[in-house]
Amino acid sequence: MNAVETKRLTSADVETAAAIIRSGGLLGIPTETVYGLGADGLNQEAVHAIFRAKGRPQDNPLILHVPGTEWLERYCENIPDKAYDLTEKFWPGPLTLILPRKPQVPDAVTAGLPTVGMRCPACEVTRLVIQKADTPIAAPSGNTSGRPSPTSAQDMLEDMDGKIDAILDDGPCSVGVESTILDLTVTPPRLLRPGGVTLEELEEVLGEVAVDDAVRRLMAPGEQPKAPGMKYRHYAPKAPVTVVKGDPDMTAGYIVARMGEKSGVICFDEFKGYFRGHPVEPIGPVHDQAEQARRIFDALRAFDHLEVTDIWAQSPTDDGIGLAVTNRLNKAAGFHIIEV
Ligand code: AMP
Ligand code: MG
Repeated sequence: MNAVETKRLTSADVETAAAIIRSGGLLGIPTETVYGLGADGLNQEAVHAIFRAKGRPQDNPLILHVPGTEWLERYCENIPDKAYDLTEKFWPGPLTLILPRKPQVPDAVTAGLPTVGMRCPACEVTRLVIQKADTPIAAPSGNTSGRPSPTSAQDMLEDMDGKIDAILDDGPCSVGVESTILDLTVTPPRLLRPGGVTLEELEEVLGEVAVDDAVRRLMAPGEQPKAPGMKYRHYAPKAPVTVVKGDPDMTAGYIVARMGEKSGVICFDEFKGYFRGHPVEPIGPVHDQAEQARRIFDALRAFDHLEVTDIWAQSPTDDGIGLAVTNRLNKAAGFHIIEV
């Protein structure tokens, strides 16, 4: 793809942003989860350009972003009642529903699967752009494939400047990890990726929810998780990561005793003084899981600009949104986890 000059747009530029989508261009879109790399989800060519800009494997499908529940029937069929219980409670918001797709959804979006991921982002300006463009926006996260997802326009430009037509800057993301992905084509519904809507919240609405194996462990070579993206080593900083799980005082002590001269540390705010002389990325207080979610990707990104040989991380707990934070961190570590 030829280098283009990436325009910086603001929430006042809805018309310009919508015109870029209509004309088959690539647009960085703000959402509450992470910044996305958007294009017209019904335009096969525009969708191919997303894969090229990211260097994304062709077998990893994209999510279709819509402005409201009314658009579900345009692109999905055999929609169970449960879908509407969920959209009523969690849309607009960080929940992607996997549903049977209608034929007008291009194969490029679904990577040939018979299903499609549907999401309605909480970010109002992005919903306005979709309405104005009058087409769903297909978007994966706005990072180069394999890098941490961007949680600000600046982070996204680090990867995408010159590769996309424009980016719409609506400030930093309020959730900070990608959407929860729930497969509604199976019984019981299956959590494919933990995110901003928690497992506990889903269980309150649905009763039983199965958790896909790929959420909690490394996929063996050749194993196929239901969300194709979960098999890739995502969110990887350049230096290897070791996650240490357990009581925060114990994990801090364990790391201090074992770290090397050039080790970096991801830790809770309360412990940042423990690792003097080492690059430290605090991710928030022990009990503030929402803040940990907002900061985890920035912490991982930060180490790519620092001279570290390896990275140690104190593990958050895996209840609530902590399941999403630990999933991203464990994946960054290739599931190299030590329990103390
Ligand atoms: P990203 O937004 O970059 O995290 O990418 C979208 C995620 O949604 C990837 O992990 C995909 O594998 C997943 N996904 C998209 N569509 C489907 C689908 N039809 N079935 C299962 N997973 C999907
Ligand atoms: Mg992604």
